[in-house]
Amino acid sequence: MNQKTISNIITLSGRALQAGSASEMVLRPALEGAGIVFKRIDLCGAPRVRLRDALFSDGEARRTTIGAGPAAVQTVEHFLAALWALEIDNLEVDIKGQELPAMDGSALGFLEPLKEAGIAEQTEARKVIKVTEPERVEEGNSSLSLIPDDSFNVSYFIDYDVPSIGRKKFEIDLDHDSFEKEIAPARTFCLKKEAEALLASGLGQGATLENTLVMGDDGPVGTTLRFPDEPVRHKILDLVGDLYMLGRPVIAKVVAERSGHSLNSQMIKLLYEKYVKE
Ligand SMILES: [Zn+2]
Repeated sequence: MNQKTISNIITLSGRALQAGSASEMVLRPALEGAGIVFKRIDLCGAPRVRLRDALFSDGEARRTTIGAGPAAVQTVEHFLAALWALEIDNLEVDIKGQELPAMDGSALGFLEPLKEAGIAEQTEARKVIKVTEPERVEEGNSSLSLIPDDSFNVSYFIDYDVPSIGRKKFEIDLDHDSFEKEIAPARTFCLKKEAEALLASGLGQGATLENTLVMGDDGPVGTTLRFPDEPVRHKILDLVGDLYMLGRPVIAKVVAERSGHSLNSQMIKLLYEKYVKE
């Protein structure tokens, strides 16, 4: 399979989910081997941040950051999940702002415009990460394991002390079609009991009841679920996006229990050292 980029330039804009500030990104085709590169065009000298810089980012519990310090780019995971689904390897992303626009809180807000931009196949072969031995990271009662397999499939278990989420397990064989249908529409969520504290700490400033499920005991506040188990599906969306920070697709069986961005980030560091670093 060959590398891909987009055929036409597109612009996406909106409020950033966490910071609430205005954000605009212009996506441009990139050459083979270029990878996915963000350019902070709002900063002096327009510093470039590569996907790989994610490995050296400060850990953030509630979002995925690429790069460090003032030139970082935040909340990239839903966008990266859409790039994974479309098998886009090379892309230049000019971004005005420190954080990507929230779009609809899922991957669909990125997936649909990217599809409209058109996908162009290039001539160099695509690089993949085929996991050859079991890998595991854990923290307390959370864990994330990778087991060698011929396809990319995920089993995800979540356990929340809120009746509307509860204990749920979701298993899926992931490819473009299954992702678009079953995972991409699942929106980000927070617990109603945490919402005030998140807002007070400066997070969720761009959240609306449409782009973020605020999960109370009986369900989301002010909206209806797209799937009865939308939160666990969104956790899979985040995992797919986080793994794509390696810039190439991972082929393995993934078993996640109560995992999140922190374990995902430990796993990508481990995979980077073993399968990507030259
Ligand atoms: Zn998310």
